[in-house]
Amino acid sequence: MLDLHDYIESIPDFPEQGIVFRDITPLLADGDAYREATRQIVAYAKERQVNVIVGPESRGFLVGAPVANELGLGLIPARKPGKLPREVVSESYALEYGTASLEMHVDAIKPGDKVLITDDLLATGGTIEATIKLVEALGGEVVGLAFLIELSELHGRDRLAGYDILTLLEY
Ligand code: 5GP
Repeated sequence: MLDLHDYIESIPDFPEQGIVFRDITPLLADGDAYREATRQIVAYAKERQVNVIVGPESRGFLVGAPVANELGLGLIPARKPGKLPREVVSESYALEYGTASLEMHVDAIKPGDKVLITDDLLATGGTIEATIKLVEALGGEVVGLAFLIELSELHGRDRLAGYDILTLLEY
């Protein structure tokens, strides 16, 4: 049985001193590992009766796109500011230094849509909290959150209390 831990590289002191970066590129680069991660999230999405997938830029696309395709569902990108060409809703969130924003087209979600949000990694939960707010502002129901990796000591899960969370690997 394939162990997805074997496909995550831990890089000390990246992008800055004291941070251990969890690099998912070996997992993406291996067809069997990428397919196995996708299979687990697809199974979860089926249980939750999801009808649309939302992923924040940019690694959320890499996790969400194969899941959406396997299920025959659409993928909605939550993008960095200024990238989407039509009217958007926007949500800001705090970073360690400064703030960031994500945007979605105003017609991206239909009221009552059952949404799965995907990303590569759950750290403090700020990125996903902003993505949840966008989906809910458009009338969608967030029925699940799926990540390849959870950094449990950063307690993102507490911030996302009340939402159902799948993580494939924990560090
Ligand atoms: P949060 O908003 O939960 O604090 O941070 C999660 C976001 O930061 C994710 O979108 C993720 O792509 C990125 N991120 C933070 N730390 C890491 C890391 O160690 N590895 C990877 N692959 N992404 C990270």
